[in-house]
Amino acid sequence: MIPGPVDITEDVRQAMAVPAMPHYGTEWVRFFGETREMAKQVFGTLNDLYVMCGPGTMALEAAMASALEIGDTVLVPYSGFFSERLGVVAAGDGLNVVHFDVPAGQPVLPEQVADAFEVHPEIKALVVVHHETSTGVLNPLEEIVAVARSYGALVIVDAVSSLGGVPLPVDAWGIDLCVTVANKMLETPPGVSLISISPRAWQMIEQRQSPRGWYLDLKTWRWYATHWSDWHPTPATMPTSNINALNRGLALLLDDGLEVRYAAQRAAAQAVRRGLQALGFPMLVEEKYASPLTTACYLRAGVAGDALVAYLADRAGILVSGGIGDLSGKILRVGHIGAARKRDYIVALLLAVEEFLREHGEDVPPGASLVALDGVES
Ligand SMILES: *Cc1c(COP(=O)(O)O)cnc(C)c1O
Repeated sequence: MIPGPVDITEDVRQAMAVPAMPHYGTEWVRFFGETREMAKQVFGTLNDLYVMCGPGTMALEAAMASALEIGDTVLVPYSGFFSERLGVVAAGDGLNVVHFDVPAGQPVLPEQVADAFEVHPEIKALVVVHHETSTGVLNPLEEIVAVARSYGALVIVDAVSSLGGVPLPVDAWGIDLCVTVANKMLETPPGVSLISISPRAWQMIEQRQSPRGWYLDLKTWRWYATHWSDWHPTPATMPTSNINALNRGLALLLDDGLEVRYAAQRAAAQAVRRGLQALGFPMLVEEKYASPLTTACYLRAGVAGDALVAYLADRAGILVSGGIGDLSGKILRVGHIGAARKRDYIVALLLAVEEFLREHGEDVPPGASLVALDGVES
């Protein structure tokens, strides 16, 4: 029950075990193309979509470096560990980073983004996290993107931990470069990332003058996707077993139906929130901005976070996370994604937390937290 990587079904794991395939040739081109088309459905995009070898951070770096010149200004709202990381990556790519700080557990607001554009008309792109996994905040992305577009900025979104688990229609919302990974809401093994690229982004990429390496330059990827499309559609070797598993996971997701997954996530979040609240753990994020994927709560008085995390792991076999960065030692984070969105996982977690509290002298009747789940869909 960590916020990712996520448990992988047997079916998808078996897909990793097929004999190695060549990353070129007619059969591969067909299979790889089919995988991309399924991913496009999940992204809600008709734009180009590339599957790249490497973690989400790599694809985010490719997005920023490919579309922007060295010295260009980008706006990166800081709302937690992952958004601050985006600022570090941008600076590493020679971009001039403008940021504003959002207090822990609060969302990035469209008004704050508009203010930053007013003060810094030189901003060329907005780089923003959708689901800030370190706090469990789901930013109001549609509104944020609309603001950035109204200032003519390119929009780069880190949807690493959200895409597939919450609605994120890339084209309808006008996102230029959107990045996710195989191993979070797509529920497949780590190793590949996915990036969609709008025509506007392509224009900037094609016009860019700064040298940006070769492998991470999306221009290179476009060249192979175009000129070698019928036999070798990527610049270099691809992890074909990972892509086989990704294909299987995407098929399962589309079979289930996106709306069904989204609803299951909302129900899981509600159950975890209500149960933990019933046990006296205050929520970090107000309901309106709480992510349906990760729930963060403060610790209740007298409870040491690392003791609770260790107890859950050792005594109940349940892995949850503490805080990272500034929130280290202050919060508990529960990922209710993949198999862990199922009600039996959530009930096991709540009963184990109850047990921990009893062992620490609290008067908690067994099942006290489960009463709070009455009426919550499972
Ligand atoms: C997990 C995560 C990342 C990092 O992804 P990698 O694949 O490890 O690079 C980036 N952003 C968010 C919001 C995440 O949850």
